[in-house]
Amino acid sequence: MTVELISVGTEILLGDIVNTNAAYISRLMAVCGADVLHQNTVGDNRKRLSEVIRLALSRADIIILTGGLGPTDDDITTEVTSEVLGLKQQIDEDIVETIKSYFKKRNRFMPKTNLKQAMRPEGSKVIENNNGTAPGYLMEKDGKTVIILPGPPGEMKSMIDRVAKEYIAPKTGRVIVSHNVRTFGIGESDMAQRVSELFDNENPTVAPYAKTGEALLRVTASGKTKEECEALIAPVLDEIKEKIGGYIYGIDAENIEEATVEALKENALTVSCAESLTGGLIAKRITDIPGASEIFECGVVSYSNRIKGKLLGVNEKTLEEFKAVSFQTAAEMAEGIRKLSSSSIGVSATGIAGPDGDGTGKEAGLIYIGIASECGTRTVEIKTGHSGENCREYNRTVAASTALNEVRKEVIRLKEKG
Ligand code: ATP
Ligand code: MG
Repeated sequence: MTVELISVGTEILLGDIVNTNAAYISRLMAVCGADVLHQNTVGDNRKRLSEVIRLALSRADIIILTGGLGPTDDDITTEVTSEVLGLKQQIDEDIVETIKSYFKKRNRFMPKTNLKQAMRPEGSKVIENNNGTAPGYLMEKDGKTVIILPGPPGEMKSMIDRVAKEYIAPKTGRVIVSHNVRTFGIGESDMAQRVSELFDNENPTVAPYAKTGEALLRVTASGKTKEECEALIAPVLDEIKEKIGGYIYGIDAENIEEATVEALKENALTVSCAESLTGGLIAKRITDIPGASEIFECGVVSYSNRIKGKLLGVNEKTLEEFKAVSFQTAAEMAEGIRKLSSSSIGVSATGIAGPDGDGTGKEAGLIYIGIASECGTRTVEIKTGHSGENCREYNRTVAASTALNEVRKEVIRLKEKG
């Protein structure tokens, strides 16, 4: 099985960006047991792009193109590939809906130009993009397979991972197993640095990913059987745990809320939350997980100081002296909600979602999380550094994620205490 890569983008030719996509895909293909015999880079030019596609079709079984799937006029990959393969493009209503909901989720209006990304080549399979608007396509013609994917690595990686597992490895008779090591509280580059020597591994490979406020490592092995893959992966997971164990919240956990709810369930503990800037997001994320009723007692959205005092018992003096966004208020909110609900753990979030600071020197993105349990009360300060337009969603997400992660850590403390 031979593979040829085509990286599309004048920026790569000019040296403005480094072609990390080709490196990533080549390593992944090696894991799949497929041979990458050529890599090409071509600018955003119709004639030259169609020439390289034709050349690749003449000598490789699978051709993978990345880049040029955006909505603008210089994004020509889908169009030129369809043309070379003799496939018509048609608007796909399902893709239109997916793109529309992508924008809606982010409170943005979909520009008409994005409809271009819903022009599916006839007979092609859609490769879903969970991190952007442009789907990828897989086309088969005359015994050849052509796969096109968007250029941004954060979108491309998980898409090619799926294609490798579901499409390429089965063709070469290999099984691929991957595990996601999910971390919180460490930046992608810091994490990458601490485990950098693992990136040279060939089987399993280890690759870093970033998500909103989170970083994850994906460990991928190939072998003849699932068991063989697991045996290859186990020692690498141990090594990762040794290096960044304190930041790992779960292996193959879907998200922090799932890991936190699981930890609470396993230890028969309950939680309640008092929320200010998150406006109920912590409670929402906990109750997103099926079976949350076993561990969740209540949530109070105490936006005003009056309610912080009246419902949660936050001291008037505390609010006067230290204000709502402070270590002290976060601590009293957590203690208050724990008392009110008789939960094992009380958690609170107070902070400045933005776009502006509070005018007294406290900036948008300053957040305090309080945690109260039998182990005592503690607080965590976060400075996301995000202010201005569109910062609210980010700051609130990070606040809720941190609160959830601190609850998970508190479960470990309570367990150790016995
Ligand atoms: P967009 O919708 O962002 O325009 P696209 O699929 O059209 O996506 P390009 O316009 O080719 O992709 O590239 C967008 C960005 O993705 C580049 O600016 C660069 O940051 C990154 N990128 C593209 N190709 C590569 C590559 N081969 N290696 C690493 N990064 C890349
Ligand atoms: Mg583009």
